[in-house]
Amino acid sequence: MPARITLIGTGVAIPQPHRVQSGVLVELDDLAFPVLFDCGSGVLPRLTDCTAIKHVFLTHLHLDHVADVMSLIKAKWLCESYDLAIYGPSGTDAWLARVFDAYPYMKGRIRIDVSEMADQDRVSIGRYEIICVETIHGMPSLGYGIADEGGRVRIVYSGDTEPCESIKVLCDGADILIHECSFPDSVPDVTNHTTPRALGEMIGSISVGRIILTHLYPHTRGFEDEMVETVRKYCGGCDVAIGRDMETITL
Ligand SMILES: [Zn+2]
Ligand SMILES: [Zn+2]
Repeated sequence: MPARITLIGTGVAIPQPHRVQSGVLVELDDLAFPVLFDCGSGVLPRLTDCTAIKHVFLTHLHLDHVADVMSLIKAKWLCESYDLAIYGPSGTDAWLARVFDAYPYMKGRIRIDVSEMADQDRVSIGRYEIICVETIHGMPSLGYGIADEGGRVRIVYSGDTEPCESIKVLCDGADILIHECSFPDSVPDVTNHTTPRALGEMIGSISVGRIILTHLYPHTRGFEDEMVETVRKYCGGCDVAIGRDMETITL
């Protein structure tokens, strides 16, 4: 499954000049249309062709993951691209309806299909399947895996979560895990998010080809090497890196 992953945004709700909010674009070899995961503030201007976006998978409804969704819808309308499928956790339909109520002139401009996903739901995209798993973030939240035509999960994106069993099971044997690592271990009492040691303990002895850390708060600046080393130590020296905005990873 040749694929190209672009880390559009690796940041959070606190502004950082070098990191916009969450967005991951996955281009799969024979799919004409890339798949977008999350659409936080700053993602839209980095999409080279908004008309190519036909599927958006939202991990949850915090602003730093959805702020550019309505902007994407408007951009598609203005560029005469009239269809968009949005997948997200429970509450996505009502949330989008409320956003449209704030912008009534946007209603009916493009066709939008909203699907609320539950744990272990699957969506076929061409020859591939997107697998949804529940995560732990204090509100309905999902992580996603992309399985190839043989059913093997190759790419996993955690969204915002504490380390959780569902992601662990999903990413065992995957080529790449893009996992949030919001804070360094020096930040105490982290809940709803992940720190390097907690991520390393979760990964433990399972096999993941490569781990990219994303959703990085300003608190992580200066701790990047330490964070990478901590995760690497737990996972037997596997390939671990801090994500960078607009970095492209080819499988
Ligand atoms: Zn969140
Ligand atoms: Zn977030």
